[in-house]
Amino acid sequence: MDEYLKQAIELARAQASVRVMSEEDIAKFVATLAAKLRDLVDSDTVCLETTATTLSTEEVKRSIKEKSVTCLECGKSFKILSKKHLSLHGLTSEEYRKKYGIKKGTALICKALVRERRKKMETMQLWEKRRKLKKMPK
Ligand SMILES: [Zn+2]
Repeated sequence: MDEYLKQAIELARAQASVRVMSEEDIAKFVATLAAKLRDLVDSDTVCLETTATTLSTEEVKRSIKEKSVTCLECGKSFKILSKKHLSLHGLTSEEYRKKYGIKKGTALICKALVRERRKKMETMQLWEKRRKLKKMPK
């Protein structure tokens, strides 16, 4: 059952306990209330999305490409969108992510470099494991 219908039924139940309502009344009450609640929530989310940023999430996603990252402030491309560059726009990388709705912790690095780094990390972790295994007493 959808969330709004549940809420509407709860409210109808409360109404029915304080005044006499026919089955038809209750059904109508629930139907109109559910629709109203749905409208309210829908318009809320639309507002939030449009005020957060003027760019679509697609555009933001496309800014981080295989071989380059595009600065959404000035449109220039880099391998790494550095703190130094962002400071030219008066932004920190945190502020930049927030402004464009980029997920927290997303590296502002082109995908190829991210993969390279991940590989390096994995190899390092493998070495770490091997070292620990050697140290383990028998
Ligand atoms: Zn820039």
